[in-house]
Amino acid sequence: MRSSIYFYPTLKETPQEAQIASHRLMVRTGMITQVTSGIYTWLPLGLRVLKKIEQIVREEQDRAGSLEVLMPTIQPAELWEKSGRYHDYGKEMLRMKDRHEREMLYGPTAEEVITDIFARFIKSYRDLPKRFYNIQWKFRDEIRPRFGVMRGREFLMKDNYSFDLTMEGAKASYQAMLEAYVRTFARMDLTAIPVRASSGAIGGNLSHEFQILADTGESEIFYDETYETLDVTTLTLDRLQTLYAAADELHDPETCPVPQEKLKTARGIEVGHVFYFGTKYSIPLGAFVMDSEGKQIPVEMGSYGIGISRLTAAIIEAHHDEAGIMWPESVAPFKVGLLNMNVKNEACTKLCDDMYQKLLQAGVEVLYDDRDRGAGAKFADMDLIGLPWQIIMGPRSVESKQCELKNRRTGEKVELSLEDAVKKMGS
Ligand code: ATP
Ligand code: MG
Repeated sequence: MRSSIYFYPTLKETPQEAQIASHRLMVRTGMITQVTSGIYTWLPLGLRVLKKIEQIVREEQDRAGSLEVLMPTIQPAELWEKSGRYHDYGKEMLRMKDRHEREMLYGPTAEEVITDIFARFIKSYRDLPKRFYNIQWKFRDEIRPRFGVMRGREFLMKDNYSFDLTMEGAKASYQAMLEAYVRTFARMDLTAIPVRASSGAIGGNLSHEFQILADTGESEIFYDETYETLDVTTLTLDRLQTLYAAADELHDPETCPVPQEKLKTARGIEVGHVFYFGTKYSIPLGAFVMDSEGKQIPVEMGSYGIGISRLTAAIIEAHHDEAGIMWPESVAPFKVGLLNMNVKNEACTKLCDDMYQKLLQAGVEVLYDDRDRGAGAKFADMDLIGLPWQIIMGPRSVESKQCELKNRRTGEKVELSLEDAVKKMGS
């Protein structure tokens, strides 16, 4: 992509309204722009990141044996009346009426819709287990939308729903999601720790939140210091239940099993949530199957959310410095920024154009800064948007056939031949 035809309106100044680094950086790099409180437009650069995060989440959900569906954003009140949540959900639910005066709502989550689908199509224990997920916009009329997309009103969520015959089966589904979550966050260079959680409006008796430790996090968490050396990739539900980590609303100093000197506290950003809630929805919505003895039994369910739009901000909280963002390669909007330091020099521009083509041919995602700007502004912009690599070329490259390759994260720079740079980026 050529910068001259792309659209990423970068800002030098810090936007007044942005209190945390990720919000400031998402606005300053032109990833997002606010439409109204808690509601954003994703501009091209931001959308590329959002799509990459979404794809990683999708791949790990698929790997865990889940089936992708796409449920609507608008749901009928009727389904929520059956579960009893239409009245319980309160002001966070955005309600509306259609032209026939039917009550509708913008879905804050989708337990009712998916359980109804299950109830209509699945009748036998032979069809279990089943896991369905979707990646869809949700709306919650948050009392205090803030920190940009970190706590929006409209936000993109992956929500998965598991259906099992028995409680053991449901626990196996829960375990499969725990593993999927650990892999998902590791692929984004994030360490998210699963913390025991209250079950909130959804209800239930087993629940963990995945928290990324960050000073700007909204939740206060208390955890056993063992977590700091824990290899999360080996986590099982059984092991997890022997470890202590709790969000503040569940933490009680009186009953906490961890001795004071081993108890750590930190702030966290909740990026995912797993729930087991048994038959809370299957009974009222009629999701029963026939077991091997011909008896009708309500299915055991769980639900599993990941905040995809919140993750863009959480990744920036974990990966930035004074100069800007430092994207992990897996979610970077482009892998490389190619900088032409003198667009007025014809030979230099021809060489850069050629380099751009070679990178594209090698399958490299590259943002080519071909704009007529001063060197300082170009460097600052590239550091700000934080692509993992920069290839810097100027008139000197014409004779030397060399470029400078900079690693955004370490700041390390090496001189190498143009071919070697293409090879290195293409591998
Ligand atoms: P929170 O405590 O942050 O309000 P929640 O418990 O209401 O979260 P869930 O209902 O479990 O959230 O939703 C699943 C995931 O969706 C959360 O883990 C979070 O990552 C994301 N999420 C929830 N609310 C928002 C929001 N207002 N803006 C952005 N992401 C959100
Ligand atoms: Mg909430």
